[in-house]
Amino acid sequence: MSAAVSPAPASSSMNRKRWHNLRNILERKGPFCKSDFTPSADNLEFLQNTCKILVIGAGGLGCELLKDLALMGFGDIHVIDMDTIELSNLNRQFLFRRNDIGSSKAECAAKFINKRIPTCQVTPHCAKIQDFDESFYQQFHIIVCGLDSIVARRWINGMLISMLNYNEEDGSVDASSIIPMIDGGTEGFKGNARVILPGYTACIECTLDLFPPQINYPLCTIANTPRLPEHCIEYVKIIQWDKENPFNCALDGDDPQHIAWIYERAMERANQFNITGVTYRLVQGVIKHIIPAVASTNAVIAAACATEVFKLATSCYDSMSNYMNFNDIDGIYTYTYAAEKSETCLACSNVPQVVNIEDPNTTTLEDLIKILCENARFQMKQPGITTMMDGKNKTLYMATVKSIEERTRANLTQSLGELGLKDGQIIMVADQTSPTTIALQLKYNANEVEMA
Ligand SMILES: [Zn+2]
Repeated sequence: MSAAVSPAPASSSMNRKRWHNLRNILERKGPFCKSDFTPSADNLEFLQNTCKILVIGAGGLGCELLKDLALMGFGDIHVIDMDTIELSNLNRQFLFRRNDIGSSKAECAAKFINKRIPTCQVTPHCAKIQDFDESFYQQFHIIVCGLDSIVARRWINGMLISMLNYNEEDGSVDASSIIPMIDGGTEGFKGNARVILPGYTACIECTLDLFPPQINYPLCTIANTPRLPEHCIEYVKIIQWDKENPFNCALDGDDPQHIAWIYERAMERANQFNITGVTYRLVQGVIKHIIPAVASTNAVIAAACATEVFKLATSCYDSMSNYMNFNDIDGIYTYTYAAEKSETCLACSNVPQVVNIEDPNTTTLEDLIKILCENARFQMKQPGITTMMDGKNKTLYMATVKSIEERTRANLTQSLGELGLKDGQIIMVADQTSPTTIALQLKYNANEVEMA
């Protein structure tokens, strides 16, 4: 079969019927239309033949998004996903079948949609988002994310912000350089959908404190004063497994024998401390850091995201402003609020942000890196730091390149004063959470710096 995007294969009367409901919205004026909306048959034409959408992720949300967008008339969709299909995906990732296990999610999803909905052509990319540069992302009108990784979200957010142009006169964002990003996220029975106009509305980094850093229980609690079933499971995982080495191999979260072993030991420990709530499922969750995926939550969030894509693409209605929370743990609860753009946002504020340092004589470079990783504002993973000193670019520390790591390791235990970093100094930080290097300004609270 040919891969033609248009026209739709059916006869024109069939075709009219097929898009009847969309035409009602796109060819008539209504009280809620945006001011720049012109009712016309061209609107549907634009969705089918011109508008280019990128869907990031072909998992639980991605399958829903592709189906929704294709049925809403979008004709040109690209999808990126680096993962392959696993058996446990099949209960909710409905574009995949048992025979697809082991194949690329992006490719299988595209094949399914292209066959089933001939008015839509999906182009798959079995790759990481980091494999593409600005010129790739530039081609899309709207980007919609169904990701489970915060790092990936932050990266694409940073990419779209790095693509903004600013007007020379007043520093305002050039509206034509904005590619809207619709972001959906789900976690069990909770989900959210948001509309991000990079440079205009709150971005992912503006609201970074909404994502709590990943929980790591203190080892002393796990070892001595467990209070939660999770503490018992972590104890067996971290301490008992290594001590007893039951299967003479590393722990594999997908091996039911390993999970069963941990479950039994964790139960024993829980009984010892009168803790209830250790279940096989919880053991799986703690070991693999997974939260069960719920198909209905994905469906609701994807529908909300697809609706926002439709509204932005056609101007038929105002966009949601701008952050919707959804929860169906106990009945259904949802609300939408306008998340505010942060003046101190690392990604979109367009000025170097300040890192406050108590005392540069006692704060080591390692402490600074710890601040960048643990502070809710930064939440970096493995920051590499460089700075300008005496007109030269100097690498202070970089863990990602072995030779540089070895050469700069000794700096870790030196204080910022000893390293010659001054109050107000700009440091450049590279991290996997951003596609670009971020400029940060050191601000010392103690006045005197003893220079080495
Ligand atoms: Zn921001």
